Amino acid sequence: MLGLSLGPGLGYVLLGTLHDAAIRAIIWYISMALVSLWGYRLYRQFDFKRMSHVDLARWYRKITFFYYLMFILWTVIFLLFIPLHASNLHYIAIFTQMGSAVVASSLLFSDRRLYLPIILILMIPLILYFAQISSWYGYVLTVFACVFAWVLTYAASSSNRLLFKTSYQASHDQLTGLYNRNYFIDAMQHTVNALNSNNGYCSLLLIDLDHFKTINDSLGHDVGDVMLKEVARRMGEIVPKNVLIARMGGDEFIVVGGIAASRQRCLADTMEMAEGLRESLKEVYLIGRHHLHISASIGISILHQPKNNANQYIKEADIAMYQVKDKGRDGIVLFGQEISDKVERNLQIERLLHQAIAKNEFYLNFQPQFDPGHNIVGCEVLLRWKNSKLGMVSPLEFIPIAEKTGLIIDIGYWVMQQSFKTLHEWLANGIDLQQLSINVSMRQFFFQTFPNEVDQLSRDYLTPETCCRITFELTESVMAEELDKLVRIMHQLKKQGFSFSIDDFGTGYSSLSYLRKVPLDEIKIDRSFIEEISTSKSDQSMIEMILNLSRVFGLKVVAEGVETQEQEDILLQGGCDLIQGYLLSRPLSREDFELLFRERQQAVPTSKIPDH
Ligand code: C2E
Ligand code: CA
Ligand code: CA
Repeated sequence: MLGLSLGPGLGYVLLGTLHDAAIRAIIWYISMALVSLWGYRLYRQFDFKRMSHVDLARWYRKITFFYYLMFILWTVIFLLFIPLHASNLHYIAIFTQMGSAVVASSLLFSDRRLYLPIILILMIPLILYFAQISSWYGYVLTVFACVFAWVLTYAASSSNRLLFKTSYQASHDQLTGLYNRNYFIDAMQHTVNALNSNNGYCSLLLIDLDHFKTINDSLGHDVGDVMLKEVARRMGEIVPKNVLIARMGGDEFIVVGGIAASRQRCLADTMEMAEGLRESLKEVYLIGRHHLHISASIGISILHQPKNNANQYIKEADIAMYQVKDKGRDGIVLFGQEISDKVERNLQIERLLHQAIAKNEFYLNFQPQFDPGHNIVGCEVLLRWKNSKLGMVSPLEFIPIAEKTGLIIDIGYWVMQQSFKTLHEWLANGIDLQQLSINVSMRQFFFQTFPNEVDQLSRDYLTPETCCRITFELTESVMAEELDKLVRIMHQLKKQGFSFSIDDFGTGYSSLSYLRKVPLDEIKIDRSFIEEISTSKSDQSMIEMILNLSRVFGLKVVAEGVETQEQEDILLQGGCDLIQGYLLSRPLSREDFELLFRERQQAVPTSKIPDH
């Protein structure tokens, strides 16, 4: 700072008062040295990775000032030499001045606020000097200097435009004009730095459009592109000026809020912004002839003292966003302790699930299925997992994790092998079950080896006659995907005698054409309808409709989750074929199932037996 006031100040004072060239030169050198030292310090202070936005802006202001000073000092030396009589010094001064102008324009073209003033600082004294010579070559040189100044400005401006264009392209998304992923990662780093230095709070929103792929696939990418542009425009309208929006790719956007002093303030602002975004994105889109609707799933994480772990917060927002998707989309979820615990537990389950087969931790339960006369005609195989650390874990918890990680392929194979083997042994021992239902996940069903595995296992344990006692239960909600492939594999297995049941019927996307196309044998009415059957008129009519529909398509109907006598009565009156539920029996261990089966064979009246 000393240098910056000393430099030009002394230069001008000297010009007016001191005439001794040596002293002037020494003072100039000292000023130059001080300014250079200051420049060196600025250079050392620069650390792109650690500096916040504010630090960077402050540093940039200083460096701009440093350049001004540096070139003003060059002009000062020019002004110092020009009054001298030795004409060779004039030449040196002129060429140094022009040289500095060339250097300035070629080095500082990145910023107009830098190169424009500096070219003027350097060239105006030169032009005035030539003009005051008052002879023809002086005027020629004046014109030449003007042209030279113009050429330098023009060259710097062109380079500046080119640089701006390339850096715009490198930091922006071409389609929407929002920032792109690369820029976001850099900006995020600075936000993290700022939060570490000022102890503030800032939010990160991950926004994913729901079912955008359907629009792209059904109406084409042109329509999809227009929609993304409109989404970007609406987002720009909703968020405040200091908020950064970037497109991460596809239909995923990220928003980084401004820094707030308290968590409460940050949360309030963020929720208001997220709600505004959700509402605005839901409004109708008029694209060509189409009136389109879309919703968004928004996951939020709050950053506070993040050290250097920006990625962790993106992951948190991502997890929160997936919670919205799981809950049915179109919503906002804030990442918090509860979610974090759930993620932790899921990771633990995933880790332990890897060794569950090898450690022999799985076993099967069998839940009887009764005909209207309360004879056991079949059973559903239900998987159980008892882990030494976690205890009993519900399949509702571990099956989705096994599906996500692909472990379901091995687990499903194990269930199938054990079930086939059990049926084989039962049939050999007089337990003449008509049907054994095995739950099959879609991921397992579509895995390329599934038909071969079924084939191999049926050769190991079954005969062509006993294959037809196996029913595979597929879940309706996922059946709609890849319908053609599904139907092909089903037909292939049906040829061997296997049957198919549609599980949780009524909760997915059932349509008549779909029921006609998929070669089903059985429908399992979802428990949620049966729960309300005695109180809800609409659930009653729903069940009536399902029963009528099944008659039209010639399908067997199983009611699952029957817990009360009233429910059973209504279902049987409606013509339901099989009853499964706690009323008649909970899922049983193999031994208990065998016992119950033999008891029933001897026509013992209905009894309720506890779960294992
Ligand atoms: P799901 O196929 O719908 O199985 C029926 C679930 O309802 C079973 O829960 C069963 O214990 C329960 N349940 C039966 N009767 C009643 C009742 O009267 N009241 C009530 N409240 N519940 C009843 P579970 O055994 O916990 O299985 C949950 C889900 O896990 C199953 O739903 C199925 O989707 C999945 N699952 C179970 N075993 C397997 C398997 O081996 N492979 C695959 N892929 N999924 C399985
Ligand atoms: Ca089932
Ligand atoms: Ca079910």
